[in-house]
Amino acid sequence: MNAPATTELPVVVVGAGPAGLAAAAHLVDRGITPLVLEAGPVAAAAVREWAHVRLFSTWGEVIDPAAEKLLAPTGWVKPDAATYPSGGDWAEQYLQPLADVLGDQVRFGATVTGVSRAGRDRIVDADRDAQPFVVHVAHADGREERLFARAVIDASGTWTSPGPAGASGLPALGEKTASDRITYRVPDLEDPAVRARYAGKHTAVIGSGASAFTALAYLADLATSDDGTGTKAVWILRRGISGSTFGGGEADQLPARGALGLAAKAAVDNGYADAVTGFRTDAIERDADGRLVLVGEDGRRLNPVDEVIVLTGLRPDLSFLSEVRLGLDDRLQAPTALAPLIDPNQHSCGTVYPHGVNELSHPEKDVYLVGMKSYGRAPTFLAMTGYEQVRSIAAALAGDQEAAERVELTLPETGVCGGAGLFDAPETAQDGEGGGCCAAPATLQIGTGAPASSGGC
Ligand SMILES: Cc1cc2nc3c(=O)[nH]c(=O)nc-3n(C[C@H](O)[C@H](O)[C@H](O)COP(=O)(O)OP(=O)(O)OC[C@H]3O[C@@H](n4cnc5c(N)ncnc54)[C@H](O)[C@@H]3O)c2cc1C
Repeated sequence: MNAPATTELPVVVVGAGPAGLAAAAHLVDRGITPLVLEAGPVAAAAVREWAHVRLFSTWGEVIDPAAEKLLAPTGWVKPDAATYPSGGDWAEQYLQPLADVLGDQVRFGATVTGVSRAGRDRIVDADRDAQPFVVHVAHADGREERLFARAVIDASGTWTSPGPAGASGLPALGEKTASDRITYRVPDLEDPAVRARYAGKHTAVIGSGASAFTALAYLADLATSDDGTGTKAVWILRRGISGSTFGGGEADQLPARGALGLAAKAAVDNGYADAVTGFRTDAIERDADGRLVLVGEDGRRLNPVDEVIVLTGLRPDLSFLSEVRLGLDDRLQAPTALAPLIDPNQHSCGTVYPHGVNELSHPEKDVYLVGMKSYGRAPTFLAMTGYEQVRSIAAALAGDQEAAERVELTLPETGVCGGAGLFDAPETAQDGEGGGCCAAPATLQIGTGAPASSGGC
């Protein structure tokens, strides 16, 4: 089959999560036809898997302006901007209605398995940019399909590829065989079966980000409940505890995000969690009772636990992009120009200046990684960052370079300054005392045309 003319083709968007659906809304706003391919059976399949977790962002911070414009004529009622949705609320009250209004421009049960240029694998230069993209899709009913696209926006997130317990980045020895007692998600303790799994048990929580804070707070809450007597968490950290361990706390410009760290601190201070610091998990063994024993790189063996919750971050799945030419940072697997802005080794105050098509371009023209996936392995991605990315990309695809390069967003700071680091860096004076070096809070604005903020301290 000959490839059709590029100009007649849709822009394929991979994933109907917050970033993918916002991308579709911005494309529609620009008069460009999107085709969103979503692996799950409904919109926001990944967000629904953490439906029980309350966002640290308010409704006002997680609704895209172009999406709102699309929803308004349908009689959609915007939730109170000052309140905090759960993941389930976000999916049900905003993301699914947005997918519904996009109609057959969103296809469900459609997993993208490959992206290339028609008739050109990644090594062929000849006339490459003039060829449409070819997108391979595996449908839930077993069908395979080949689609063509004028551009590809990959908004497939990182949810499907959680990091392992092993400190080396590889699974710890024994991690796979211990999988019956390991989860890589924040457990939903409102679910009776899940609650029973952790109630009265000893659980190791590995990781140091917002999800680990949430899990520790949930377990502490369970420990104080009538059905949770004896519940105990062991918090495994690769670094020592410092002022920045618990996030920005009250210096965080997103108060609910700061509160997560404070809740984790309270869990430790009140004795519901014991922190084990400087521990690099090397192996997971079983004792005679079937409980799990974490073994450190230094030979330390921890007391046996019943369960392990691994929350060591998420990774991008780049496997289906192997035939396109991406420019990715060696460490973070984020677009090369974006990486220095989000690198936790260098990054100050958790700020990233708003960015768009310039930072997100690759050697392969018209292919973009956006949303959570654009951050590669870096933490602290915010939905509003993704909305600004896709606004800029849609403008560029429409040929409006001026709008593509205009910054329309000011991002909040985490309150953790001097570089939160990749967990192993020696402590510095800067991150030792509460982490609050940031200037007065910047205003949160989406789509206002506000001037750029460098976001530095
Ligand atoms: C527990 C938790 C709490 C969070 N809280 C906040 C918060 O308070 N505020 C905030 O701003 N951010 C928060 N985040 C970050 C949040 O994940 C993002 O803001 C948002 O979900 C990212 O959207 P996304 O569209 O980039 O990716 P996702 O939400 O992961 O969506 C990706 C979509 O792509 C689909 N997909 C994946 N692979 C394929 C494929 N090969 N083919 C087709 N479809 C595919 C998935 O099914 C999914 O629907 C939180 C994250 C977690 C995990």
